Amino acid sequence: MKKTFVVVLALATALSVGGRAQDARATLDAAAKALGAANLKTLEFSGWGYDYVFGQAYHGTSSWPRFNVPGYTMAIDFAAPAVRDDRRRAQLESPPLGGGFQPLFGEQRQIWVASGQFAWDVVGGNAVAPRIRDDRRPTADGRLEQITLTPQGFIKAALAHNATVKAETIRGARKTIVSFTTPAARYEGTLNDQHLVERIEGWFGHVVLGDTTIEAAFSDYRDFNGIKFPARIVQREGGYPLLDVMVTDVRPNAPVAIEVPTNIRTAKPQPAVGTPERLAEGVWLIPAYAQSVAVEFRDHVVVVEAPETEAHSVEVMAAVRTVIPNKPIRYVINTHSHFDHIGGLRAYAAEGATVVTHRDNIPYFQSLWTAPRTIVPDRLATSGRTPAFEGVLGYRLMTDGSKTLAIYHYPGNMHNPTMLMVYLPKEKILVEADSFSPPAAPLTSPPHALPNLIHWYETVQRLKLDVEQVVPIHGRVTTMEEAGQIIARFSPNQTN
Ligand SMILES: [Zn+2]
Repeated sequence: MKKTFVVVLALATALSVGGRAQDARATLDAAAKALGAANLKTLEFSGWGYDYVFGQAYHGTSSWPRFNVPGYTMAIDFAAPAVRDDRRRAQLESPPLGGGFQPLFGEQRQIWVASGQFAWDVVGGNAVAPRIRDDRRPTADGRLEQITLTPQGFIKAALAHNATVKAETIRGARKTIVSFTTPAARYEGTLNDQHLVERIEGWFGHVVLGDTTIEAAFSDYRDFNGIKFPARIVQREGGYPLLDVMVTDVRPNAPVAIEVPTNIRTAKPQPAVGTPERLAEGVWLIPAYAQSVAVEFRDHVVVVEAPETEAHSVEVMAAVRTVIPNKPIRYVINTHSHFDHIGGLRAYAAEGATVVTHRDNIPYFQSLWTAPRTIVPDRLATSGRTPAFEGVLGYRLMTDGSKTLAIYHYPGNMHNPTMLMVYLPKEKILVEADSFSPPAAPLTSPPHALPNLIHWYETVQRLKLDVEQVVPIHGRVTTMEEAGQIIARFSPNQTN
């Protein structure tokens, strides 16, 4: 009797699993049919709207800064897979608060592309390797993920990744929840009773936000050239809007030719962190796209800036040890709260370094750092350490008699209200972030964010800092004179 019961139970379980798989397939096939996804090889859609620069908020509780996007086109080749995102962008925020090179002058064309394992940007008609930013997108994955964040791409991915489905009633409406996991993220989508995708959420681990989501919401489905597509797409990441597009044209199976350029295909991976360069006795630049400065005190090291990611910090800390061996990094100074400048802080905290930042950032960082980190546990999460913060308000001096380092808050900069710069009075070195990033080539038009350059320049003059070397977090080491010349050329009334 007992044995029979077990057999019946096992058979029932097998039937029900098989039944669920069949249900899932039937639901996804119905969705593919409703969306016209089944025979879709390529997709191109365009419209207009707004985009937002992730991680570049004016301050810790404001949304990502918003830009006008008068022209937006996304082209997808599902089989490759490949995607091209082409935007025309213009200044919107007024006043231009926050990062993202505000204010933009004129219109900016931004094209990013990914195909298979390759990613590149198109700048002035040339393919250039994208730099590794502050988030989870060191490879093409983050860009290809945009395919999954379209309704048709989501259903194709669900079919390819053995999605599970379940019915739910949400506020009285019958919905189908579709869940699956790809190497890039875990996804969940909500389908309405017409099998149209209303919402997608992707979960991933972020260096700053911890476990977080990217969301895409679709509304106002219409018929576009034989397929159903939403006339409005809103994406959110980290709790704030990321993209808001009114779709005006959709071209199913349009010719989409995305060829990997030879220079991208044959590019050798470049080390993100270069060999330390001596700026003065006991002062070292650790070169990178976003660089750090190490200052040697009698029994410890102070590092200015921990940009990008934990992996980046690990490389910087190793580079510091090659030039300043056997001294612990006791402090890491953060210039402001943008994600490309804070993504590496936790790695230092995991080693026991105290994070020195503007006082107003401390509650913000603490709230970010208490987010769960189960998807990508980092060194701080696994160390079990409680991070230590010290706040700067106005001015702070660090000295041990052998070295002196002064930290200045310079309020009133529209880039971020918590801007700190670091001055070494004996060495006449000034380290700053994002106020002056020296141009790679002579400028032919005004630099973006010129008002912030002027604000910083005038602050340094007012403080009467004697500066021989300006060490930017982004760009080559330069002088105050170069900043003065740019201001005099493009804003002659501002300087005297
Ligand atoms: Zn910034």
